[in-house]
Amino acid sequence: MLDLAALTELLASPRKIVITTHHKPDGDAMGSSLGLYNYLIQQGHHATVIAPTDYPAFLSWLPRNGDVVIYTEQAEKSAALIADAELIFCLDFNALSRINEMGVLVGESKAYKIMIDHHLEPQDFDDYRHWNINACATAQLIYDFIVNELHHRELINADVATCLYTGIMTDSASFRLPNTTSTVHRIVADLIDLGAVNWRIHELVYNSATENRLRFLGHCLANCLEVLPEYHTAIIAVNNTDLHKYDVDTGDTEGIVNYALSMADIKLAAFIVERSDRVKLSLRSKGEFPANEICKKYFDGGGHRNAAGGHSSNTLEQVVQQFKTILPEYKKLLNQ
Ligand code: 5GP
Ligand code: MN
Repeated sequence: MLDLAALTELLASPRKIVITTHHKPDGDAMGSSLGLYNYLIQQGHHATVIAPTDYPAFLSWLPRNGDVVIYTEQAEKSAALIADAELIFCLDFNALSRINEMGVLVGESKAYKIMIDHHLEPQDFDDYRHWNINACATAQLIYDFIVNELHHRELINADVATCLYTGIMTDSASFRLPNTTSTVHRIVADLIDLGAVNWRIHELVYNSATENRLRFLGHCLANCLEVLPEYHTAIIAVNNTDLHKYDVDTGDTEGIVNYALSMADIKLAAFIVERSDRVKLSLRSKGEFPANEICKKYFDGGGHRNAAGGHSSNTLEQVVQQFKTILPEYKKLLNQ
């Protein structure tokens, strides 16, 4: 175990550091990782961000994205960096299974593990933890870690600020989710003061679609949407053939579930997609409805109350059917 004084002492001289985050990283995962990276390299640390898998192209403009090592593309190099690291920062995940095969390597590494995260029920694999379930994003916790624990606000340069703004913006669904408190708005205001160009970040993340992606969205809404008024639930289920037909890339499916949730009477929305290896579910909910409970109980997943995910090795049709059979259990909550 490490306490803050020992961690501060360790970080006082250059260290070999690995920063990693969950597989299929999203805006918060990459924003947090590159935010911390851009902070650490200013102090002479030998830091590397290792992403377990690739991630959406709408994140590729993030400052120093070019330095990121992708495990699935450079497994040997990644393994050597992990084995050699003195410190491993584990950002935006709570269990080693969330980083796929890298989990074994990180678990075996002698490095101190620092978990910075906002997911429920963290597993005990870390030596130092900056964890808060009420944070709207891990990027918020990175800001808090740098400013309030390490007292280095002056090292939040424009690159760090840009990355952290991106993480908070994407994980709070553009400052809309209930956990977007006044504290979050104060942090975001500070990040703008420190150099994050907010309007430009919104442009880069949200106005970067390809024609394919827009036509795919049209297909999902026109042909794949099913509304179950009795359960205030909407499902969008997409098969693998259509993914290929629309040439859907990593990230092109991001956010589609929110269209289903945008209907006034809908409390729970599911985006169920048939990937080449398994069926992936993304659930979103409004208010108190625990989307993560369904993912954890039935689909080997988890997440937050209003945004959760899971997967299944059954067929798309079976998963859709299974999802529908679960709904009666939640009928009362969905009708509140
Ligand atoms: P998404 O629907 O965008 O893939 O995921 C939404 C949230 O659910 C993520 O931020 C993550 O916390 C969680 N999540 C998604 N997939 C999984 C999964 O397979 N396992 C767990 N434990 N959490 C997941
Ligand atoms: Mn997050």
